[in-house]
Parts: sequence; structure tokens; C-alpha cells
Amino acid sequence: MHSAKPALVYRRILLKLSGEALMGDGENSISPAILQFISTQIKELVEMEVQIGLVIGGGNIFRGVDLAATGIDRVTADQMGMLATLMNALALRDNMHQHGIDVCVMSALNIPQVCAAYNADQAREYLSKNRVVVFAAGTGNPFFTTDTAASLRGIEIGAQIILKGTKVDGVYSADPKKDSQAVRYEKLGFDEVINKKLAVMDVTAMIMCRDFKVPIRVFNMNKEGAVKRIVVGEPEGTIVI
Ligand code: UDP
Repeated sequence: MHSAKPALVYRRILLKLSGEALMGDGENSISPAILQFISTQIKELVEMEVQIGLVIGGGNIFRGVDLAATGIDRVTADQMGMLATLMNALALRDNMHQHGIDVCVMSALNIPQVCAAYNADQAREYLSKNRVVVFAAGTGNPFFTTDTAASLRGIEIGAQIILKGTKVDGVYSADPKKDSQAVRYEKLGFDEVINKKLAVMDVTAMIMCRDFKVPIRVFNMNKEGAVKRIVVGEPEGTIVI
């Protein structure tokens, strides 16, 4: 006998993973074990008929600010950073294919031999057919971040929530690794996050989510089943609303 499927609180989500998340604790830019872990979690969500847009960062390979500090022109440095996100997206696509997941990479920079160009209408259509869409190359513009790309794509695809995967299980009053008194917030307001300069996403991303009323949930991406619990409305991490 099958147990009844729990009702979805969120049918369409935008998942934001940093490039660093792909490294795990290893030395390589992309850890095969982490790729497996992500694909397994995504597959479970697809089976629950959750529609998933995924924005991947590139900080495990290049960050524009760091490259610019070495003397590379900032615009070029950011283009290198955006290409780094595309490399991560390709690794994710490959691994998801190996797990039998229907997935497509859409890039904000056009590289037709490698992946599809970003198209909002097409992305929404794919999502409605339960195809996972990985958004690469950030916003396609220098001086932005993939956090801002996540808020932008999330709004464009009509995501009900942005899920920001991090290494800690939410937003804390102080760094929990350094301060034993640090407490985790269950719920925060956008303006509170901005005013207190809490590390959730960058301010541009926060303001977009605030203005377009898309909540953000910060959660621990290393915790098995965390996203699965979030989409059925179970408490996990911190919500910014
Ligand atoms: N980037 C950019 N425009 C964007 C998104 C990203 O120029 O819209 C560049 C920027 O140089 C950034 C790099 O891509 O440092 C990698 O993205 P990010 O730092 O957001 O990755 P994460 O920290 O999430 O791994």
C-alpha cells in the first residue's frame, strides 16, 4: 500500500547553490561526491513533481573581485567568473543526466555549441513539463553576482520561493563557529536583513526579492532531505519574508 503523498507547499522553486558548495571538503574545484549528492536530492524532488530552476555560482573556480585584485580588468574578470558558472552547470547537467534527470542548461552568455541560450518563456515551458533548468552565466552582466541572478531568474520564472543552500543551517545572529552565544533566526524581514547586514544574499538580490515578494529560505545544503522537507512546509533553516 502506498502512503499518501504529502501536499506540496512550493511547486516551483529556484534553488541557489554557490560554486564553493560543489567543492565539498576536497581539493578539487568540483567534487564528484557532491555532484552525486545534489543529483540524488534533485531526483527526489522531480519525482515529487517539484519544478526546479537552479542557479549555480562560480566561486569554486573564479570570482571577478579576486581576479581583478590580481590586475585583470574587472569586466574581463567578471566574464571569466560567469564562464566558471557555466563549467559548473555543465558538470551538474552531466551528473543529472547520469541519474536519468531531464535537465537543460540555459546560459545568459550565448555559447550555442555548449548549451541553450537563456529564454524566459522557454524556461517556464520546460519547468511546467517538470524539466530541471540550470541557469548559467549569472545575469550575463559584469558587476553582478549569482545571488542577484537567482533573484532575477526566480522572479522571471515565477518561483514561489528562493532556496539558498549554504554550509550552515540558516541565518545566525553571529558566526556560530566563532560565537557559542549565536542564535539561529527562524524568520526575518527583508529590511531587517538589509539593515543588520546579515549574510543572506547580497543587497541587490534582497531588494529584488523584497520588491517582488519572493521569500528566501536559507538552509544547509549538506543536510540530506532538507529541500524535500522545505517543499512540503516543514521547518528548516531561516525564512526571509
Ligand atoms: N558574475 C558576474 N555577473 C553575474 C553573476 C556572476 O559577473 O551576473 C561573475 C562574478 O565575477 C562572480 C563570478 O561570476 O564573482 C562567480 O559568481 P559568484 O561569485 O556569485 O559565485 P558564488 O559565490 O555563488 O560561487
